[in-house]
Amino acid sequence: AKQLGKNQYAFYTKNIKDNTMKDILEEDELHRALTKNEFELYYQPQFKLANGKIFSAEALIRWHHPERGLIGPDTFIPLAERTGLIIDIGYWVIETSIAFIAQRHKDRLSPICMHINLSALQLRDAKLVKQVTKLLDQYQVSPKEIGFEVTETALLSDVTLASNILQAFQNMGISIAIDDFGVGFSSLGQLKNLPVNILKIDKSFVDDLETNPNDKKIVEAIIAMAHKLSIHVVAEGIENETQWCLLENYSCEYGQGYVVSRPLPKAAFNTLVEKNKQA
Ligand code: C2E
Ligand code: CA
Ligand code: CA
Ligand code: CA
Repeated sequence: AKQLGKNQYAFYTKNIKDNTMKDILEEDELHRALTKNEFELYYQPQFKLANGKIFSAEALIRWHHPERGLIGPDTFIPLAERTGLIIDIGYWVIETSIAFIAQRHKDRLSPICMHINLSALQLRDAKLVKQVTKLLDQYQVSPKEIGFEVTETALLSDVTLASNILQAFQNMGISIAIDDFGVGFSSLGQLKNLPVNILKIDKSFVDDLETNPNDKKIVEAIIAMAHKLSIHVVAEGIENETQWCLLENYSCEYGQGYVVSRPLPKAAFNTLVEKNKQA
């Protein structure tokens, strides 16, 4: 039995070692990405379903990898979270988003609220509120011009600290959105205990709206409940006019999705927003 135990031990350490080596190599690359400025933010408009007018946006990170080309966040954000690099990358995202708003001021472009994704680890960073305050001050951007998006699972890791941080942000005037709503574990009942302004209905529900009668009922119920709690609703991943119309009929106020625009680099985003304003 002892022999077996030893072998098993050896087996597991080898596996862990392999994973760690791979992580270390990629962690190195991610770190280089930050110092060599290989990240870029794309911006996706959020619009009123009633008239298609753009009023806010979401910042979404991309990585220009020197060999692999443009890489989406799903392939490197999990590693950044495992290694803790998400803290530094997160600060880069926050500062770049705020700097973009400041530049839009200088260019006399229309005001827009920028939503920034936060990972679980960032919601356990005691310095976050102070740093965000400092950045807003430094760039002369109002807290009303930014919002944070957090997932239900990010809130679960340490609910007290996370909700204290979110409460501090909300008190400053920063809006708080619950991302991917409906796919996690949280109940609608938990919402009333959290400082939440916006609820984002996950794309998976929007995808099935046309075909799945149960999804229709769930989405309708989520919207009605949110509105009773004075929470705004944004539906994400709207790809066609049918989905748009259905959501509008359910009194959903806002949307985001390819039907209006994919996430865009900043110049293309600015052009689209100005055109949308004039239309
Ligand atoms: P998310 O926060 O749920 O972002 C929405 C994702 O849906 C984005 O993918 C967006 O491009 C995509 N999307 C929007 N509309 C449509 C549509 O109509 N159809 C389809 N098929 N897709 C649509 P993206 O940019 O690949 O981001 C994936 C995830 O990576 C995000 O999901 C978010 O969880 C994470 N992420 C992105 N940027 C950041 C960041 O700066 N910080 C952190 N912590 N996470 C980020
Ligand atoms: Ca999001
Ligand atoms: Ca989402
Ligand atoms: Ca998502």
